[in-house]
This record gives sequence, C-alpha cells and structure tokens, in this order.
Amino acid sequence: MTPGTRGRRAPTDVINGSAQLAEAVIDLAAIAENIRTIAAIARTGLMAVVKADGFGHGAVPVARTALGAGADWLGVTSATEAVALRSAGIDAPILSWLHRPDEDFTRLIAADVDIAVSTTTHLRAVANAATDLGVPAAVQLKADVGLSRNGASGDEWPELVAWARKHEAEGSVRVHGVWSHLTNADVPGCPSIGRELSTFREALRIARDAGLDPEVAHLANSAATLAAPETRFDLCRIGLAMYGVDPFGATGPRRFGLRPAMTLRSRVINLKRVPGGTGVSYGPDHVTNRPTTLALLPLGYADGLSRTAEGRAWVWLAGRRCPIVGRIAMDQCVADVGDLPVVLGDPVVVFGAGAEPGSPDTAEPTAAEWAQWAGTNPHEVLTGIGARVARVHLRGGAATS
Ligand SMILES: *Cc1c(COP(=O)(O)O)cnc(C)c1O
Repeated sequence: MTPGTRGRRAPTDVINGSAQLAEAVIDLAAIAENIRTIAAIARTGLMAVVKADGFGHGAVPVARTALGAGADWLGVTSATEAVALRSAGIDAPILSWLHRPDEDFTRLIAADVDIAVSTTTHLRAVANAATDLGVPAAVQLKADVGLSRNGASGDEWPELVAWARKHEAEGSVRVHGVWSHLTNADVPGCPSIGRELSTFREALRIARDAGLDPEVAHLANSAATLAAPETRFDLCRIGLAMYGVDPFGATGPRRFGLRPAMTLRSRVINLKRVPGGTGVSYGPDHVTNRPTTLALLPLGYADGLSRTAEGRAWVWLAGRRCPIVGRIAMDQCVADVGDLPVVLGDPVVVFGAGAEPGSPDTAEPTAAEWAQWAGTNPHEVLTGIGARVARVHLRGGAATS
C-alpha cells in the first residue's frame, strides 16, 4: 500500500451513483473496523452512539453495522430517534436520553427502549405511563457529575434514587442502569476526570445502598474509553471514535488506528482562467495575486462547509491540496487550482480518510482538519453536513444510497 491510499477507491466509482451535486460516502467497513479496534482496547460492552442521524452518517446503516461488528447497545438523544431504529427492525437494546417532561413515554416503553431519567418529574411521568400500559419501564438514572447539564445533581440524587426504588417496588419501573457523562474526557490527564469518577462512584454507592441493583453502569465517551481505563465500567458509549475520528486530534496521546468513515465529495462544475488582480466571491475578500485557474465547487455552508473556514481551508483536487479562496457561500465555493490540468467534472474531495499519520499533505484533508479551519470540533463538521448532500453507503465496496 502506498502512503495516503489506505482504503482509497477510485474517485469516480461512487460519485456516479448519485444525481446530487455533492455526496457523503460512508464506508461502513471502516465503522465495523473501528468498532473492533475500540472493543479490543475497551474490553467492555459498547454502546454505539447514533444520535443526530449517526453523526450525519445515517443512523440505521451505522446501527446495523455497529451491532454486526459487536456493539451491544445503541444510544440516541430522543424518543423519535429511538422509535425510528425500532421501525427499521432493529431490536438491540437502545438508550434514549433527552425527553420533554410531557413526553409520551408509552411509545418508548412499548418499543422496549431504556429511558434515561434525570428528574423526579420525568420519573413520575415514566412510572405513570408504565402503569397505564401495564408494562414496567426500563430506566437508567443519570447523575450529573460536573457538566451542570442533564442528570441529577448531588443534592437531588438521593431523592431520585429513593423514588426509583419505590416505583421498582410497586412494579412500574426497573432501574436498568446508572450513568453519567464527563466534562473533559478529551483533555488527557485533566484532574476533573478523577474528581468526576469519584462523584460517579459515590452516586453508584448511594443507588446500591438504597436497594437498586443496576445491570449497567456507564460513564465513558470515546475519549474516556480510549484513554481513561478507570472510567469504562460495564459499557462505553462511543460516538466520534466509531466514525473514525481520533478524539485527541493529531496531537493526541497515542494513535488508535481509527479510520474516518465519511468522505465528502463533489465535482468541478465551472472553470475560469483569470489574470492576477481578479476578485473572487463576495466582497471580494480574496484577490488573485497571479494568473491562475479558479474551480467552482457546488457546495457551501448549507452543505456543511463553514463560512468561518475562509482563508484556511483546502480540498483535494487533481492529486493536490488546493486552497479554497474567497468567501464560502451558501451553495458554492471556489478553489484556486493554479496551473494544474483540471477539467470540468473532475472529482473533488472536501474531506475523507486523509493521509497516513505524519504526511498530511499527501492526501485529502480530514473532517478534523476542517474542524480546525472552522474553529470548531469534528462532531460539528460531521453533523453539519446538509440534508441535500446525498448519503451513499459502501458495504464492502458496493454503493447503495
Ligand atoms: C454524544 C454523546 C456520546 C458520544 O460522545 P463521543 O465523544 O462522540 O464519543 C456519549 N455520551 C453521551 C451522553 C453523548 O451525548
């Protein structure tokens, strides 16, 4: 294998499969491989986090792939996402974690979805729904160990636990899990990790002392799973790493052998040879400093290319990295291809698997690089890919939409 070509396909073999201007090609084999890589490191159960349409990769195909590769659980944000997985015929355990207090919990209970509960108000609503249905609800109590977001804080936890125990005794609820989420898992050695781990252990102790016997305790996201073994407990919830992005970036503590699953591609749809001194896009913020060729790419910020990456972003075109110049518009942007022999219809890779470590300029950029250029995290780049970008799923080489 030559450097920078790992997992690479001929650029033309998938873009032809869709009539869209741009495509996000999802290599499901990479997701399966990442699951196996993470499982070998974690040696616990794995919950594949497929919220936000599988971080933009397609929740159902990602879920099926992850389960096929050994994941035990699926994690989603909302009841709608959970029910959509069930409707697709997926019967693996699912945890859903953000709910309105007036949520129709009967649809989650009927679909055998574990319901994350952070407040006594939600717990009461879940217990009532379960009583109406005549089926106990599986709940997972969430403790807040530091984020100050969802989860019961330390002073609320004993009451939540006590009510859960009461509902368990009356048969409306079964406490299946106790869990939380870390503040700074992606900062290696951050003292908050140890502190929050102690808080979580204390919450677990309080739950057990109150008579609860949760089957699963879980705390770790991708970063914690890979780098903080003491946070793994029974189950690790993995998002970013499953999609192939190193949660510590290129400068992280260690390379984990993950492979990015998504490639965002398009084609050159216009070309202009221009003299020096030519303004490009709105403003113009950019003026050419020499005669050059400008290639128009039909994707912009509505498709997920952040405006804030202006002046820093690159794409892979004609076997080189070419800079995006001028303002990124809603639907289009312009690459300066210099004197490269580009022709109309040439394939462009916005981001993809990237080069081998240590040789960043020998292949297309990655979502992680786009995140740096845009001043955000790779999660936002992946989930920001717009709805009009076609998702094409590769299963062992075959493309299906
Ligand atoms: C999104 C999410 C995850 C996955 O996080 P990654 O950092 O992408 O692995 C895990 N747990 C919870 C509660 C989440 O919301």
